Amino acid sequence: MEKTLLSIEQMEEINSLLKQKAVEAGAETWQDRKEAQKVSCKFGEEGVCCRICSMGPCRITPKAPRGICGANADTIAARNFARMVAAGAAAHSDHARDIAHVLHMSSENGSYKVKDKDKLYKLAGEWGVSTEGKDLYDVAHEVAEVALMEFGKPFGTLRFLDRAVDGRKETWEKEKVAPRAIDREIATIMHSTHIGCTAEAESLVRMGIRTGLSDGWGGSMIGTELTDILFGTPTPTQTESNLGVLEEDMVNIVLHGHDPSLSEMIVLASEDAELVAYAKEKGAKGINLAGLCCTANEVTMRHGVKMAGNFLQQENAVLTGAVEAVIVDVQCIFPAMAALADCFHTKFITTSPKAKIPGATHIEFDEHHAFDSAKGIVKEAIDNYANRDRAKVYIPDSKQTAMAGYSIEAIIKQLDLVTNSHVDKTGTVKPLADCIVSGVLRGAVGIVGCNNPKVRPDYSHIEIIKNMIANDVIVVATGCAAQAAAKAGLLDKEARNLAGQGLRTVCELVDIPPVLHMGSCVDISRIILLVNAVAKHLNMDIPKLPVVGIAPEWMSEKAVAIGNYVIGSGIDTFLGVYPQVTGSAEMVDLLTNRVEDIVGAKFTVEMDPAKLSEQVLERIEAKRTALGI
Ligand code: SF4
Ligand code: SF4
Repeated sequence: MEKTLLSIEQMEEINSLLKQKAVEAGAETWQDRKEAQKVSCKFGEEGVCCRICSMGPCRITPKAPRGICGANADTIAARNFARMVAAGAAAHSDHARDIAHVLHMSSENGSYKVKDKDKLYKLAGEWGVSTEGKDLYDVAHEVAEVALMEFGKPFGTLRFLDRAVDGRKETWEKEKVAPRAIDREIATIMHSTHIGCTAEAESLVRMGIRTGLSDGWGGSMIGTELTDILFGTPTPTQTESNLGVLEEDMVNIVLHGHDPSLSEMIVLASEDAELVAYAKEKGAKGINLAGLCCTANEVTMRHGVKMAGNFLQQENAVLTGAVEAVIVDVQCIFPAMAALADCFHTKFITTSPKAKIPGATHIEFDEHHAFDSAKGIVKEAIDNYANRDRAKVYIPDSKQTAMAGYSIEAIIKQLDLVTNSHVDKTGTVKPLADCIVSGVLRGAVGIVGCNNPKVRPDYSHIEIIKNMIANDVIVVATGCAAQAAAKAGLLDKEARNLAGQGLRTVCELVDIPPVLHMGSCVDISRIILLVNAVAKHLNMDIPKLPVVGIAPEWMSEKAVAIGNYVIGSGIDTFLGVYPQVTGSAEMVDLLTNRVEDIVGAKFTVEMDPAKLSEQVLERIEAKRTALGI
């Protein structure tokens, strides 16, 4: 059966109907603010505005090629870029630190328990934590302590670097980009970008890579591992995506943000019999939970919770008029959501002291009484059901089925389906490596990142994914890119019919969709480890593989940190939005050219998704030719 995709035009039609709802309600949306910000500052756009000391702000022009301290465009752009990496790494890593604390408070009878014991014991073994005769939770707490030390240990480099293929480890050592402690790398960037410190662009680019790697092989990897230990390693699960997942006659709760220690508890609370009965008492048929952004990815990967949409869809969820509460924690939450929610009955509930927003209802989530705390928040939503104004409700009749839950463990299990157990061991990435070497699959790409109003929302994600799979390139996706794929219908197994012959056959035999949802943004560490496993299997360093990373619509500092660790891991990275460094010829040269001499991979920037696709396919074929495969 041919898969019917939701086209970008259909998505845009729904968006404009919802925009109309905003106009009727007198509400402002991102489109209005984008319009108001139409003429962006050229100096900021090019990265040549500096305000890191009070002699400034300074900006670089042909007539004023240096700031007051003497910093030129290269220094300023490099410092700004490095600070973006530091902020991104800080966001992922602080998220991971919280998860480590949650693992540390896990207990047999508490809200947080260890769900994946095998993964815990495996990690304990890897980190030299003895398990012999110990209580499960003593092991969990010791592993959590080791993880927490990774943030600030005084000596050595990060433990997870040991997982890397030899070539990577050697490169990191040789080029002095092997990250030490996570917080240390972030602090070093803040130090070195202070006035009067590092002025050399290349030095700052190297620091950016080291700090990026402290995220990808540190914070994010710790976050993903410990989240799997606490809440379970994802397995393939069927779900639905887009605003059509909201229900006319149920209490709709939208979870938005990133931290699974909140969202997991909200999932449990919304399934609680007492609360479901309470919702019915209030006239609803039940409680309907849906996710936005990375929280959606986390809970859909583990529970199949439906996905309401991605970054630029967050306001649309409120505009349906059918959402009783948007519950948020940290990261990627528009502060504008508070004012928007005021135009509807929706309660906008912030829960984290790290992300308070004026105008929101703040109910601090108490991790020490997590389940009860989550129940209290869900009850607020139920109580709000009676306030829904039915005249304002418009739930677009649009949703797609999607598969999610492709952790590395899950992917390997699917690959076992085509492993000849008489000849080969099961539980390896060999079938994937074989398909790439034989050319049945030309290569693999990871499509990640956000939405950005600078480009047509979701268009680049969807176009590039379609181009990749049609050319027998398997796609793995995370973050808001995965959500774009889900909305379009590309995460459905039937989407294999849009793939080329080779990929289609692989999808049929392995029983997977052509685009594998591998999780949230911190789960990009899963992608890195999968590529690393293939490299190890083929006994070669990562830059040789026909594998590419793409962030077609990136916007956040986290995406900059990710880009840095992806190239640091030896994977060429294609961006669909320019980083703010174009005012420095040296920075452009460093990022798109010279950095390859350091880590074996570089950035390419191309805003046109058709051209970007062509370039990616060319890069993949060039890597194949170089390998003689
Ligand atoms: S650090 Fe230099 S360029 Fe930046 S604001 Fe201060 S004086 Fe100006
Ligand atoms: S992909 Fe970007 S917008 Fe989406 S949740 Fe991650 S950082 Fe935020």
